[in-house]
Amino acid sequence: MAAGEYPVAVGVREGDRPMRCPFCRHADSRVVDSREVDEGQAIRRRRSCSECGRRFTTSETMVLAVVKRSGVTEQFSRDKVVRGVRRACQGRPVDDDALQQLAQRVEESIRSAGVAEIPSHEVGLAILGPLRELDGVAYLRFASVYRSFTSVEDFEKEIADLRTAMAGAPAPDDPAAAEGEESKPGE
Ligand SMILES: [Zn+2]
Repeated sequence: MAAGEYPVAVGVREGDRPMRCPFCRHADSRVVDSREVDEGQAIRRRRSCSECGRRFTTSETMVLAVVKRSGVTEQFSRDKVVRGVRRACQGRPVDDDALQQLAQRVEESIRSAGVAEIPSHEVGLAILGPLRELDGVAYLRFASVYRSFTSVEDFEKEIADLRTAMAGAPAPDDPAAAEGEESKPGE
């Protein structure tokens, strides 16, 4: 993951030990300025050490954890979304900008749910909608893996839904999507 692409929590969370002064290691500091960055998803704080008086900055990010089926938890990564979707987009007219935008939309929709932990299959679910808008073929490829298509009929049904969606009508509710217990790309 490229540095700076996804904010890493370096700050203070409730229950964590406080951030120490980087100069004298003192544990206590005073906040002199706070501002939201990254569209409110992180808070940058300017602090003044109560021991040596020097100033430093901390950045606090809301931690968004993805719980994999194995139970292992990892931090949500836009990069990982991009990698998973890129595979499905091979040979399709989808450039990197479009992939980055898609990953951003996925992150926003996940964060808007306001929970700190989400099951990994919900990341896949959040990808399906924007990907369908982006490229139908890539969507079918991704959905076939994500939803573990096992027959031609699975494709036929998905294509029928896709046609309906492209015609502007809302896609019929798909109970399989809500279950989403299958393995998928990016895991
Ligand atoms: Zn200090």
